[in-house]
Amino acid sequence: MTTGASMGSQKRLLLYLVIALVIFLVFSYFLPGGQKETTPVELSFDTFIEKVEQGEVISVVIYGMKIDGKFKDDKPFFTYKEHGYELTPLLINKKIPFKNLYDKTDPYAGIWGSLIQAGMWIGLILIAFYFISRYLAKRQGPGGTFGFGEAKVKKISSKAEKITFVDVAGIEEAKEEIQEIVDFLRDHKKFSRLGARIPRGVLLLGPSGVGKTLLARAMAGEAEAEFISISGSEFVEMFVGVGAARVRSLFGQARKSSPCIIFIDEIDAMGKQRGAGIGGGHSEIEQTLNQILVEMDGIEQNSGIIIIAATNRADTLDPALLRPGRFDRKISIPRPDMAGRCAILKVHTKKKKIADDVDLTVLARATPGFTGADLENLANEAALLAVKRERERIQMADFEDSVEKIYMGKKSSCKLIQEEKKTIALHEAGHAIVCYYLSNADPLYKVTIIPRMNGALGFTAQLSEEDRQLSNKSGAETTILSLLGGRVAEEILLGSENITTGASNDLKRATDIVRDMIAKYGMDEKFGLASFGEVGMPFLGKELALHSGMSQGMQEKIEERTRELLSEYHEKTAELLIKRKSDLEKLASELLEKETLTGSEIKKLLGEKN
Ligand code: ADP
Ligand code: ZN
Repeated sequence: MTTGASMGSQKRLLLYLVIALVIFLVFSYFLPGGQKETTPVELSFDTFIEKVEQGEVISVVIYGMKIDGKFKDDKPFFTYKEHGYELTPLLINKKIPFKNLYDKTDPYAGIWGSLIQAGMWIGLILIAFYFISRYLAKRQGPGGTFGFGEAKVKKISSKAEKITFVDVAGIEEAKEEIQEIVDFLRDHKKFSRLGARIPRGVLLLGPSGVGKTLLARAMAGEAEAEFISISGSEFVEMFVGVGAARVRSLFGQARKSSPCIIFIDEIDAMGKQRGAGIGGGHSEIEQTLNQILVEMDGIEQNSGIIIIAATNRADTLDPALLRPGRFDRKISIPRPDMAGRCAILKVHTKKKKIADDVDLTVLARATPGFTGADLENLANEAALLAVKRERERIQMADFEDSVEKIYMGKKSSCKLIQEEKKTIALHEAGHAIVCYYLSNADPLYKVTIIPRMNGALGFTAQLSEEDRQLSNKSGAETTILSLLGGRVAEEILLGSENITTGASNDLKRATDIVRDMIAKYGMDEKFGLASFGEVGMPFLGKELALHSGMSQGMQEKIEERTRELLSEYHEKTAELLIKRKSDLEKLASELLEKETLTGSEIKKLLGEKN
């Protein structure tokens, strides 16, 4: 119970409900009215008369047609009077005390009785709630009140743990946009004087881990503003009205501490389009969202409060949130590019002891797709590994092994039988040789046949020279050839009857690229320039694809041409690998022995390209 303050609100609610239930049961046992020590038995009227005549009955109460009574052994019963039967003379005769309440009904039987009873319980429970909550509040200290409508915000004052723009790297464009708002928070009079309207809300869009929270905190740090954060999912409660009350409380706190930044993480949890859900939407979410809109509209112009919301899916947001005067400034934060990754790595290795051989630009090149959070994780993993290896400083090998670990999941303990291993070595060597001898392919970074938890049995990784936004036809062809290299190597060295299933992912990717080249990018002369958008989307069934404006016939033509081109590329790959068969065998056996080879080791093994 001492951890009450940190209890989740749902757990706390459950606790209250259990307490209430216990109280209810205890009270209903001891209080009259609720007390029915034994349920009365129902008798037929004839049996009742019989019992009266036998002297078994000791008291009777008559409510019109209903008769309650007690036997000698105190057991209660009830029965219904037969019409026209004169009971009174018999009772007087038998000297049984009775009360005739005539047409007054059972005070607890009618609907009013039930209501009164229910009201009484509710009253009692509320009183109990009141005392329990006061008790808990005392134990939890200030702030630990009932906690229903209270917004559980994280407040980080500007002095403690100050984060500034120095801590945010690699997302320069977003930083620039934020800078303008920082200037405003620092000196809002300047802006007000010229009549400028500063955005009230800023929406940060981007995948998780790219630094949205970090940027918001840095903004508060730079502007020396208070930072209040809450997650959208916390507004979504099971009780209607709680979310809205939390919003009110949140904005109330913000008003007290202006200048202030309110950060709402995962706003998509509640900012979903109203009425979009099944059955007309979730009225609780709707209410909460409405309250946010009301509060945002209620913030005075240039009052020093700015709301920053983060989401990774803007498409589901309610358009009302995006209207002018609300989240009218949208800043999207993509995954960092190579230079960005290098800058982020610099930030996260600044306070670590790094050996001289560590080259952050090489690491940045080897980590396409990593977010800021991944890179921070990488720096930490490398440090942990270096400690485990009892090093003085973190070395490049520690970083490289960590990259691999993060990319591919933990190394799988599954031991492959030698035969399989040989096949995988051949397959990967096939990919690698194609990469090695195609002049415009990215240089090899690493080839390995160590199986991973994610199911990959081996992989060939290349260093990307830069993050390409635009790829050209010859680049796409190179990728296709190297993807096909694995299967073709199996065909050449094992014979086509021994090819394995290991290439299915390669083939799928190659097929997707070829199809896109034909039908999306207009790269096939035979097919012309027509672009059909997302034809390569695997989850679009045929029907949906047809809706996207393509006829069945066209679809078939695309498929036909894809097959044709793929077999052309297959031939090209085979030509290349047959020419390099000795290299292929050399690399495969080296791989089998060493399991992992780096780009420079491969270069040494194969010698100069000729
Ligand atoms: P998001 O809110 O977008 O999910 P966070 O801001 O929570 O991501 O990022 C998590 C962590 O990753 C941060 O605390 C920080 O250490 C690191 N990080 C993310 N992006 C960056 C960046 N651009 N520069 C430096 N560190 C970053
Ligand atoms: Zn492969």
